[in-house]
Amino acid sequence: MRGKVTETLLTADQIQKRVAELGAQINEDYKDTELFGVCLLKGSIIFCADLVRHLTIPVRVDVMRASSYGGGTESSGSVKILQDLDVDISGKDVLIIEDIVDTGRTLHRTLELLSVRHPSSLKVCSLLDKPSRRVVDVDIAYTGFTIEDKFVIGYGLDYDEYFRNLPYIGVLDPNG
Ligand code: 5GP
Ligand code: MG
Ligand code: MG
Repeated sequence: MRGKVTETLLTADQIQKRVAELGAQINEDYKDTELFGVCLLKGSIIFCADLVRHLTIPVRVDVMRASSYGGGTESSGSVKILQDLDVDISGKDVLIIEDIVDTGRTLHRTLELLSVRHPSSLKVCSLLDKPSRRVVDVDIAYTGFTIEDKFVIGYGLDYDEYFRNLPYIGVLDPNG
């Protein structure tokens, strides 16, 4: 395992409190309908699992996987869909659940791909947002935390597949 956590950016308590707030907001906004949550693998697994447990509206969850970083800390320009949804989303109120929006490329491509399937609505909930790194503009309806341009790990986010298990979000020094 490479890399060292040099700083705690968000504690487990801070994250849990914010996730509960996001859940409450989503319950309110979708109270007259039902939700189709799309968990973007793999980084969003922990966030999605915690978020949906705050939902009291009828909700279904499916998973989808798009390529982004590979093993390192640099994003690539081309985004591939590695695993698609199992079901048709036409007429559904779809909420994409994402761990972090960085350049915006992954989400932009995913939104393009899903919007042509005619969902009734299509929105994004991202735990983290790094706006200073944006290359492609994306509309995020629900944001957990806006953070600086630092490579973060924990609470689902990985470095070389490690660190997803941490209950907090930390800053990683890849050479540490
Ligand atoms: P984007 O296409 O917006 O550049 O990248 C989105 C994906 O890259 C995220 O869903 C996440 O998997 C990964 N990513 C972006 N920034 C970070 C970061 O600071 N830490 C980790 N672990 N992954 C990141
Ligand atoms: Mg992601
Ligand atoms: Mg990753």
